[in-house]
Amino acid sequence: MDCIFCKIIKGEIPSTKVYEDEHVYAFKDINPMAPVHILVIPKEHICCANKVDETNSIYVAKIFEAIPKIAADAGLEGGYRIISNCGPDADQTVLHLHFHILGGKKLSARLV
Ligand code: AMP
Ligand code: ZN
Repeated sequence: MDCIFCKIIKGEIPSTKVYEDEHVYAFKDINPMAPVHILVIPKEHICCANKVDETNSIYVAKIFEAIPKIAADAGLEGGYRIISNCGPDADQTVLHLHFHILGGKKLSARLV
């Protein structure tokens, strides 16, 4: 399967890893939109939030268990924003479920 995030998990494409466990991989976004911009992804290929179901939701649970640790390691005591784009109207560009963690500054109050 030609998925760049699956290749990152396998080490076939380089990444700046910030966290990894059995279910979760997290790395720095290559095009940061904030002083801290981390992507958190499941180690199983799930294309987007629309494809989360009872067979794979453990990955989402594990991602949200990891996020507080990732945020603490990144120094995000002041807070952060989590975003997951799903589908063309959200401009999802990589079709492997991912959660953007954005922070390191006061973020704008509005998203759209
Ligand atoms: P989205 O638009 O929500 O699908 O977000 C995809 C994100 O992946 C973008 O913020 C990209 O900058 C990021 N990205 C794409 N390729 C890489 C890569 N090789 N390493 C790190 N981040 C990447
Ligand atoms: Zn994938």
